Amino acid sequence: MEKIMEVVAGVDLGGTAVNYSLVNAKEQFLIDGLCEHPALAKQGPQVCLQQIEDGLRIAAEKADVLFSDIVAVGLDTPGPASASGQLSAKGSTNFVHAHWAGFDIRESLAHRLGLPVSYLNDGNAGALWGHFTLFGATSKETSITVVIGTGLGGGIILDGNVVKGRKGFGGELGHVLIPYQSIAGITGLRPECNCGRTGDLEALCSLTAIEKSLLPFFLPKHPGHELAKLGDLSRAAKQVRGLADRGDPVCKEIFRVQAHALGLFFDEMINTFDPDALIVGGGALETSPEFQQWFIEQIRVGMPGQREEQADIPMYVMPNGDTAGARGAAIEALKLAKLGGLA
Ligand SMILES: [Zn+2]
Repeated sequence: MEKIMEVVAGVDLGGTAVNYSLVNAKEQFLIDGLCEHPALAKQGPQVCLQQIEDGLRIAAEKADVLFSDIVAVGLDTPGPASASGQLSAKGSTNFVHAHWAGFDIRESLAHRLGLPVSYLNDGNAGALWGHFTLFGATSKETSITVVIGTGLGGGIILDGNVVKGRKGFGGELGHVLIPYQSIAGITGLRPECNCGRTGDLEALCSLTAIEKSLLPFFLPKHPGHELAKLGDLSRAAKQVRGLADRGDPVCKEIFRVQAHALGLFFDEMINTFDPDALIVGGGALETSPEFQQWFIEQIRVGMPGQREEQADIPMYVMPNGDTAGARGAAIEALKLAKLGGLA
C-alpha cells in the first residue's frame, strides 16, 4: 500500500551548523526562521551524522510533528560533491576531516535515518528555493538564480528541475566567463578568480571580487576615501555594501560594476535558456529595498539590447536568505516524494 506522505525535512549542512526546515504535502513550511544545531563537521562523518539526526529530532519537536511523520529528507551541503551526494575525494574547505574524502553523505544519512534522502549542493538548493517562491514545487518553469556572497553561487532550474549535470557541477554560475571588457569604467582591471579563470562572474561579482579586484582598482583613484585610509582590504570589502546603500559614490560604483557584470551574464542565460525569471539573492543584497531596486535596474542597464519578446523578463530579489538552503533541499525531497521517485 502506498505510504501517505506526512512531512518532508530539509537538512542544510554547513561547516559549522546544520539548519532544518520541515514542509508538508501542501507545501506549507512548519518552521519560520532558522532552526540550527551544531554540525561538528570537523570531527568527521560519524559525529556529524549523529548531530544531523539529533538536530532533526529537535526540529520535529519544534514544528510539533512526530519524528516518525518524516517520510523523506532533502540534504544539501557545500560542494564539491557528485550529483548523488558523494563528497569530493580531494576534500573541501567545509569537510576537512580525512574521513570526509569521497564520503557518500546522502547514502550514509539515508542508511542512518532509514528514510529516502535526496541531495543537492547548497547553491542549487538555494536556487530551487528562489524558484519555488515564484512558481511552487510542481512548476514547469525555468529560472536562473545567482547568490552573491563570499563567492558567487546559484543554479539553474530547467522546466521545474534542478540542473545537476554529469558530475554535479551543473549551475556553477560563478565560473562562467563574461565579456567584462565591455563594462564601462574598468579599463585595465584584470579580474582573476581563485579557480584560475580571468573574468568569470565570481571574479567581478562577489565579496571576494570586491576585496581582490574592485577595491584595489578603485581605491588608488580615491586616496582620500575612508576605505583607502582603513588600509585593510578584507575589512574594507565588508563595508562596501553598507556604504553603497548609504550613497557613497565609490562604493556605489563598485556595485554598478557588479550589476553590469550580472547583466552580461544574464544576457548569456537569456540566449541559452529563454528563462521565465531571473533571481538575485545573497548577502550582497541584504540592503534597503531602494538599493535593491537600483541594483536590479543597473543589471538591466548592463545587459545588451534584448529582443522585444524577451525585454520584459522579470527579475526578483530572493527572500529568506538564511533558510534558502534548507528550504530548497526540502522542496527537492518533496518533489521526489510526490513523484514517488525517492531512492
Ligand atoms: Zn572562477
